Amino acid sequence: MTATIIDGKAFAARVRAQVAEGVARVKREAGVTPGLAVVLVGADPASEVYVRSKGKMCAEVGMESFEHRLAEDTSEADLLALIERLNADAAVHGILVQLPLPGHLDSDLVINSIDPAKDVDGFHISNVGLLGTGQKAMVPCTPLGCLMMLRDHLGSLSGKDAVVIGRSNIVGKPMAQLLLGDSCTVTIAHSRTADLAETVRRADIVVAAVGRPEMVPGDWIKPGATVIDVGINRIEGEDGKTRLVGDVDYASCAAVAGAITPVPGGVGPMTIACLLANTLTACCRANGLAEPEGLTA
Ligand code: NDP
Repeated sequence: MTATIIDGKAFAARVRAQVAEGVARVKREAGVTPGLAVVLVGADPASEVYVRSKGKMCAEVGMESFEHRLAEDTSEADLLALIERLNADAAVHGILVQLPLPGHLDSDLVINSIDPAKDVDGFHISNVGLLGTGQKAMVPCTPLGCLMMLRDHLGSLSGKDAVVIGRSNIVGKPMAQLLLGDSCTVTIAHSRTADLAETVRRADIVVAAVGRPEMVPGDWIKPGATVIDVGINRIEGEDGKTRLVGDVDYASCAAVAGAITPVPGGVGPMTIACLLANTLTACCRANGLAEPEGLTA
């Protein structure tokens, strides 16, 4: 079998077009422009790139973006004061604090100071609790993007055996909650899982979020399974050039799977599209407007 390639780049473009339509509707119906505030502390080059691309994507879908760049040695009190102002600002519907924060800042404290209704990353403890209890939440962007791709490719996920490799708070755990919400039978695997290969072999759906280059070989994959590769790993090729690879060994897995996401061009582009979708959703909820269809969990 040769797997269908799930084209995250094309799908993300469709999601962004849907968001742009939603933004136009919100402007028309309520005279409101959805706004996303991004807070960056310090000058981490990778974070700089993310923040710039978020601003550009906001403009493309007709949203406002507000960038707040703070010095590396910003005090916790000053950062919390900024978040308090953004919480109170009616033009801001989504607030994202770029992680990781410098070591002297308490990330949990900072994230939990964001108004949960504006927490478009879905990391606030209230949103974690709402998701865990099956209530309407702001859902973390990467798992939301994976869920959208799975629904688009498979239709109903009900009754499928799903294995999520990785139990982080930003990917693995919320991914498992979302799959459970769609009535999958979910296993969360991690570094202490006794027999990872056998566990993965049972799965109709495999989501790999580990951070280890090409760790999952094709002979772990059940023929016809759908493989979502969240991993983004930089490795040096034989030619000395760095390239991006996922957590699954793409060539051997694609030979067995029914469908697979590539790296790059799979989950990555969906993450930022879902950030825009969450900002639109937050704006709709704040203004009592109908939520955009197909852009939430
Ligand atoms: P974390 O490092 O927070 O978590 C990794 C998880 O993998 C942990 O639960 C760990 O288990 C598990 N793990 C590590 N080694 C093994 C192993 N040998 N066997 C089984 N499980 C193992 O990573 P994240 O969840 O933040 O990210 C995972 C990957 O996804 C990374 O490559 C990251 O770059 C990428 N990513 C991509 C995004 C995108 O937009 N596409 C967004 C976010 C992340 P344990 O808990 O036992 O230590």
